[in-house]
Amino acid sequence: MATAIITGSARGIGAAIALRLAKDGYDIALNDVAESCFENNDIADKIKALGVKCEIYIADVSKHDKCEEMVKKVKADFGSIDVLVNNAGITRDGLLARMSEEQYDLVISVNQKSVFNMTKFAGAVMMKQRSGKIINLASVAGLYGNAGQMNYSASKAAIIGMTKTTAKELGSRGITCNAVAPGFIETPMTDKLSDEMKSAILNMIAMKRYGQVEEIAGVVSFLASDDASYVTGQVIEISGGLSM
Ligand code: NAD
Repeated sequence: MATAIITGSARGIGAAIALRLAKDGYDIALNDVAESCFENNDIADKIKALGVKCEIYIADVSKHDKCEEMVKKVKADFGSIDVLVNNAGITRDGLLARMSEEQYDLVISVNQKSVFNMTKFAGAVMMKQRSGKIINLASVAGLYGNAGQMNYSASKAAIIGMTKTTAKELGSRGITCNAVAPGFIETPMTDKLSDEMKSAILNMIAMKRYGQVEEIAGVVSFLASDDASYVTGQVIEISGGLSM
């Protein structure tokens, strides 16, 4: 049985990806930053009900040593790591003039350094296997920039560069690495935006609706599948036509 690890998968897009990959037949390693993320939460039960194995790993993916420990445990528990989805991410929005150094550094370490950490350790397992699929969560903010998101857009643009570098470094070992760049998807992350901001975004979307988490999970499922075996180093925008 093949194994997928999805970071930040207690809720939102990560939970939807975990559920979709479980439906595709993967055993699932869930991750989030604290035990409390999985309280009053039935994601692990929903996955197990599909007849696949599912374990929870608590680790802050911005921490290099915690990622190394987690990857070792997942490998020991499941035997292989076939898919890594670097999904964990946060926002700490604010206009540049008012953004603190702490706001900047935190978003860079959680969104960007986590991708370095997890790709390094899970990538080493995949290199030995001579196979693997890595999928990174970028954002339209990383492609086009976004006022109020200097920190977030920097982290997501970096993820695009890291995706291409990973594809080039690991390609000869049978490992692909791609990114998805969601637009505005209805999750707890976007719930906190003001109504004014939400309707301004809606106006810019060709399809005149926000995206759903399952619409991200479907593209990730494709990138993890054999149908995408010759796709690497690419960024797929999933935004309902936000940027045209
Ligand atoms: P969310 O806030 O609903 O979920 C993010 C998850 O990551 C949470 O469960 C959170 O606890 C976890 N997390 C945060 N810090 C962590 C850490 N240090 N270690 C481990 N886990 C941690 O967000 P979401 O909307 O589901 O976003 C998921 C990903 O998609 C993020 O990378 C986000 O930047 C990206 N994205 C989201 C949207 C959107 O519109 N929602 C758009 C573009 C990109």
